Amino acid sequence: MDLYEYQGKQLFARFGIPVSEGRLAETPPAARAAAQELGGPVVVKAQVLTGGRGKAGGIKLAATPDEAEARAREILGLDIRGHVVRKLWIERASEIAKEYYLSLTFDRSAKRPLFMFTTQGGVDIEEVAATSPDALVRLHVDPLEGYHPWQARRLVYGAGVIDPGEQKQIAAIVGKLYDAFVRCDAMLCEINPLIVTPQGEVRALDSKLTVDDNALFRHADIAEMRDTAAADPLEALAREKSVTYVKLDGEVGVLGNGAGLTMSTVDVVTFAGGRPANFCDLGGGGDAQGVVDALSVIVRDPQVKAIFFNIFGGITRCDEVARGILQALAEIEIALPIVVRLDGTNAEEGRRILAEAAPANLHVEPTMLDAARRAVELARVAA
Ligand code: GDP
Ligand code: MN
Repeated sequence: MDLYEYQGKQLFARFGIPVSEGRLAETPPAARAAAQELGGPVVVKAQVLTGGRGKAGGIKLAATPDEAEARAREILGLDIRGHVVRKLWIERASEIAKEYYLSLTFDRSAKRPLFMFTTQGGVDIEEVAATSPDALVRLHVDPLEGYHPWQARRLVYGAGVIDPGEQKQIAAIVGKLYDAFVRCDAMLCEINPLIVTPQGEVRALDSKLTVDDNALFRHADIAEMRDTAAADPLEALAREKSVTYVKLDGEVGVLGNGAGLTMSTVDVVTFAGGRPANFCDLGGGGDAQGVVDALSVIVRDPQVKAIFFNIFGGITRCDEVARGILQALAEIEIALPIVVRLDGTNAEEGRRILAEAAPANLHVEPTMLDAARRAVELARVAA
């Protein structure tokens, strides 16, 4: 479960990580009132469950309550990569001298929590990792031994922080972040930027916190933070139809059978130069109703320009899937191009069924890569 910035900051504050004072607002007048209460300049921050809000115009400074109301008017309703802004966090504006980055996440291959710290914060951390990997200090924590203060010192010295006041404050925050991570059953705790003010004060200016869904039963207070109204409507529809669906950002709708194949399909679409619009796993069945349900969810996403249907028949029989596709097309009108790759059990039979029916928007390709390229191309043409 992903938390909003303000919720993450509330948890941070509980663990003693310094954050700025702020108020939640859902209307422009409420934003004005919040700014008035806080006094002085504020920052108006879109609360959406996606990053890069600053670049998308979702974070704006306001010198006066009047300005806060005006900025709130601009930001509320804004669509930030498919997330409509309905809540604002009005926070006392900070002066920023430096922007650092600190995170704690799971490194699954090492089976340990991993700290990452760099003085090159504020920007995309992927960019830092790619362009100056040496600037990004990585440190694993043995979960059985737990956290030790020397680990914070290694992060801080390793990243080249020389001011003793900063060193001390950051080291304290590192320890508290580990505490928050473990005690909240978090999967990710990220502070970007971790700022240093001109007065030398270190503070979390942003928060990104993901809590393990499987642990929510023992965190009633966190479970309660879930914003059901903001749940992606497509994911809600999918849940209703028992379709395994995750919304992504791209244009190529992806439908596969089995989580592994579907993940590979997402990868191969990216490899072919496209961007997957979703992850959708048909599961082991592949009966007509399953196909109808899955397709009806995928085509609801207006970003989808083409659909890549990737089936490997094992227990699932390709002829049955082919019939499912045809039945789906008969039941719901789909104008989008659909590229199908069928392989495995009864693949030839499946391809023959599709070839005989031959709907105009259906394209059958022999391999996964061919199909990915075709789908990416068709999505590009349609865009
Ligand atoms: P993100 O874009 O979704 O990661 O949102 P952030 O909360 O990280 O804000 C983006 C950027 O806005 C930060 O990196 C800062 O440069 C800027 N920003 C946010 N809050 C403040 C503030 O209080 N004062 C100033 N001067 N800049 C801020
Ligand atoms: Mn940020």
